[in-house]
Amino acid sequence: MLKNMISPIQAWLISQGRCVGCGKPLDKMKSEAWKNDTKKVTCECGRIFVYNNKTKVYRRALLDEV
Ligand SMILES: [Zn+2]
Repeated sequence: MLKNMISPIQAWLISQGRCVGCGKPLDKMKSEAWKNDTKKVTCECGRIFVYNNKTKVYRRALLDEV
């Protein structure tokens, strides 16, 4: 199995704007402006996501972004 692949349930959660770890809505979490018209969102469980203001989608932050 590929370790870096996110599971279908995680993909679904993130498409709903929810944390893949705890399932809470990420629009309630603290965020900070980030590069290229994105913002960095830190969930209360510690996971970090990047939100794209243009495409309005979340993704997991890459290791070099955290
Ligand atoms: Zn979380």
